[in-house]
Amino acid sequence: MSLLVMKFGGTSVATPDRIRRAAKRVGREVANGHDVIVIVSAMAGKTNELVGWVNDTGPFFDAREYDAVVSSGENVTAGLMALTLQEMEIPARSWQGWQVPVQTNSSHGAARITGIPTETMAARFADGMKVAVVAGFQGVSPEGRITTLGRGGSDTTAVAFAAAFGAVRCDIYTDVDGVYTTDPRIVRRARKLDRIAFEEMLELASLGAKVLQTRSVELAMRYKVKLRVLSSFDEYDENAGTLVCGEEEIMESNVVAGVAYARDEAKMTLLGVEDRPGIAAAIFGPLAEAGVNVDMIVQNISEQGHTDMTFSCPVDQVGRAQKAIEDAQAAGGFAYSELLADTDTAKVSVVGIGMRSHAGVAAQMFRALRDEGINIKVITTSEIKISVLIDRKYMELAVQALHDTFDLDKPGAERSVRA
Ligand code: ASP
Ligand code: MG
Repeated sequence: MSLLVMKFGGTSVATPDRIRRAAKRVGREVANGHDVIVIVSAMAGKTNELVGWVNDTGPFFDAREYDAVVSSGENVTAGLMALTLQEMEIPARSWQGWQVPVQTNSSHGAARITGIPTETMAARFADGMKVAVVAGFQGVSPEGRITTLGRGGSDTTAVAFAAAFGAVRCDIYTDVDGVYTTDPRIVRRARKLDRIAFEEMLELASLGAKVLQTRSVELAMRYKVKLRVLSSFDEYDENAGTLVCGEEEIMESNVVAGVAYARDEAKMTLLGVEDRPGIAAAIFGPLAEAGVNVDMIVQNISEQGHTDMTFSCPVDQVGRAQKAIEDAQAAGGFAYSELLADTDTAKVSVVGIGMRSHAGVAAQMFRALRDEGINIKVITTSEIKISVLIDRKYMELAVQALHDTFDLDKPGAERSVRA
């Protein structure tokens, strides 16, 4: 018996009517001979509403109660989905996270899954159950408290079940029809990718392409779960959506797979930092403790024993970063002459596994930005990614220019970089 995992996001279960449409898709897979584990999100907007109610109770809430509240949206859709399937005469039942149990650690609000016992659910399938509907996003801690996996976490629930049960595939139904070369709202000619490699998807997801939770991609890569992203609104088609898979399964290859952006990045610069062993640890240790998500880091060459240190972080963390640095200095951690915050920057990145074997991608990227008169403030690279920080007002222009220069609107036969 082959088992399929189907995950439906918030817009796909937003109303009883949409739940019926989703249930029909499940019914079709059952008719095709699959057992199905359905993972549901809360109805669109529900989790935001629940988070808002928690915030209204006061600023210092108990994270365990936060999880008790915000996990509840998925309980509703899981029950409704099971009822709808039963109405269609498909043997189905719902499972909340603690009933499976989806075991997690105790990091409330951002818990990690540590185990999913399969015996009980497998026995139910053996008894004739056709569909197990599981509330996504939630689990239970070793202390027996309800946990949640972080926003967007039902993607991770889905991949974890696919890995635990050895599913043939994990289909993620959402409101877009796949993964695009860039945001179609910025580049009209953005193209849907038929396939994308795990590594590329991981970079794109962590760079802000919101289609999949980053952790779900990490997990899929580790356990080689075939992941498909597709729309629950389009007519069904065998090859719909985008397959996220191992790079050996990708025949066509553009050097660059996609262009990603993060609109609200800040550039922070510490001027006149002493240049001595331990200084980076003295700066970035307190930033990490304060929960600042530092991304790019650049240290200048030093002059007369002093250097400048630049890093980027999300704009809404600037205040926290400033305080962490000032406190660390006051506690005698290190000396600097000035702390500058540039809050008008954005990050634009090109991503592609083809960069490993092609020289010249960076040069082509920089020429395209030059031709638009866009100044680059910070550059960082990894094996399959080049990111630049630029003025926010040029962000859209930069994304368009890069999409153009790498011909991302054209599907790829192997393509070389323009000299
Ligand atoms: N409902 C949760 C959220 O909105 C989890 C999810 O949908 O993936 O973040
Ligand atoms: Mg989502």
